Amino acid sequence: MNTATELRNRLRSIDHKGYPAYKDLKGQYQFGDYVLSIDHVQGDPFAAPSRLSVRVEKSKAGFPAAYYDTPAKRITLQDHLTRLFGRWAAGGSFQAKGSGKSGLLSVSRCGQQVLERTALRVKDGDIILRFEAGFPANGRTINARELEKMLFEILPDCVRKSLYYVKIDQEKLRQAICLCEDQQSIRESLRERKLCAFIADGSVLPRESGVSERPMKNAVPFRSPESLRITLKLPNRGDVTGMGIPMGITLFVGGGYHGKSTILQALQNGVYNHIAGDGRELVITDASAFKLRAEDGRSVTGVDISPFIKNLPNRKDTTHFSTEDASGSTSQAANLMEALESGSSLILIDEDTSATNFMVRDSLMAQVITPGEEPITPFISRVRGMYEDLGVSSIIVAGSSGAFFHVADTIIQMKEYVPIDITQKAKAAADAYEGRHRESDTKQASSPSAGDSLRTGGNASEAVFPDFNRKRCPGPDMTLRKDDRIKLKAMGTSELSISKEAVELRYLEQLKDQEQSMALAYLLKYVELRMLDGRKDLRQIGDLLEDQLDRSGLESLFERGEVSAQLARPRKQEILACINRYRKLKL
Ligand code: ADP
Ligand code: MG
Repeated sequence: MNTATELRNRLRSIDHKGYPAYKDLKGQYQFGDYVLSIDHVQGDPFAAPSRLSVRVEKSKAGFPAAYYDTPAKRITLQDHLTRLFGRWAAGGSFQAKGSGKSGLLSVSRCGQQVLERTALRVKDGDIILRFEAGFPANGRTINARELEKMLFEILPDCVRKSLYYVKIDQEKLRQAICLCEDQQSIRESLRERKLCAFIADGSVLPRESGVSERPMKNAVPFRSPESLRITLKLPNRGDVTGMGIPMGITLFVGGGYHGKSTILQALQNGVYNHIAGDGRELVITDASAFKLRAEDGRSVTGVDISPFIKNLPNRKDTTHFSTEDASGSTSQAANLMEALESGSSLILIDEDTSATNFMVRDSLMAQVITPGEEPITPFISRVRGMYEDLGVSSIIVAGSSGAFFHVADTIIQMKEYVPIDITQKAKAAADAYEGRHRESDTKQASSPSAGDSLRTGGNASEAVFPDFNRKRCPGPDMTLRKDDRIKLKAMGTSELSISKEAVELRYLEQLKDQEQSMALAYLLKYVELRMLDGRKDLRQIGDLLEDQLDRSGLESLFERGEVSAQLARPRKQEILACINRYRKLKL
């Protein structure tokens, strides 16, 4: 370990030299109460900035152990400190001057969700912060005085104001930790009370705009219908009321523009904790929930979609279904079967993004097209069995079809953004409707009786969920294993690439952050190089990875060399979804 004085001397000795002389600074320096590590030095002032890290020991950082004694609290603490450092760094950025990125000081930018990131890790009370700095130059000539200003004045100030407990706003941090405890307490209550989601009264669900995740101003606050209102006793806030959505099948109906998709989006994001002021802090959903949608064009490798699709015209095997270019309905069926494989116990569906022929078939169509000719058993015929036999609940937005009234346990109408429990009314209407149509229905049922679930107009729901093939054991993609310079890239949350092979992520709506996409790229590489062996199935791979990430974090994906500072942890659902979208997955 070098001293800070040594760094100062080195800096002074390379002043006015050519930019590459900065490379000599790589190393670790003891700065009084923290260690600064210069991990990677940029090649020129216009290249990606240099990568640095700071380590503050527990005794110096001084955060209460109760703030990191559970994973959720530790992640909240990390998130809070990253934001704090980010704010101070933004203020200190570009105070040192020069060409290109000279003077830049930055750390991962955190959005509305609280995510685990490699930017900052609390490990047994020690803090490891990873960030970027633009080493200053005039043209391509080193300006060491400016870097000295950055590393000896600006940075120490930012570090002190964000990583030392005695220096920060302790009340703000305490509130963040308390919120986390309350959120975790709701998550635990969900299971105990057999709920799949909770939305607190007063929550603000809509967002500012299609491109901003911030809360809408002057929105109609959420208010639970009386019949679904429950009270939860939270450790810090005390009693909180809100809507508990029971396990089973829940339907949201209502006219267009009344807030159906908005509530579903809030639910799909409820797998994450949100920061205070977001409006969705107390919207908590089963953490394994998966937003199911159609995704035509995706590739599918060896998925058993036979519970939904059989007898395709080209006699394609649907128990091991593969395609380079799935249709709306086959993609949605594959997405669902993969979600089951990933262990999701809640499926969220919006009619706006579903393939109609996957969801329902009306009785008139079922009369004209006999089951033998129709390869699809619609979701509506399976949704009951999925819950009864597999324990997987569904929340479905369906504004245009009353077909789901029969199978739903809970029916909620959205009316001017206010939910109303119409279960009784809708069930009664459905029964009356059924009575009027019974005659024609019986006629139908007696004629085409092929198929296990097509008894009443293709929408029957009594059938058990058919057995399906749960084991897919991919082998490695050998071309990737032979590639010794694998390049990884992420384009927002819409796509990643691994050795130039693109993987589409844009329809994984629960992927929230570009750093999660980047982590998926690293995870895909890790899985391909280290885990796929033709024996472990994807469910096992998902569980093994989850275990490893729980124990040792994303840092464990890096064996040698330096950990990427710009990764955020995705859920198991997104990890497996990403592997499933890799077009070179070998089965
Ligand atoms: P639907 O899916 O029923 O057609 P959306 O959920 O898309 O309706 O909502 C329609 C519009 O209403 C959106 O622009 C949304 O931002 C807005 N909106 C949703 N909920 C609220 C609310 N609680 N308060 C104010 N505006 C809302
Ligand atoms: Mg909608």
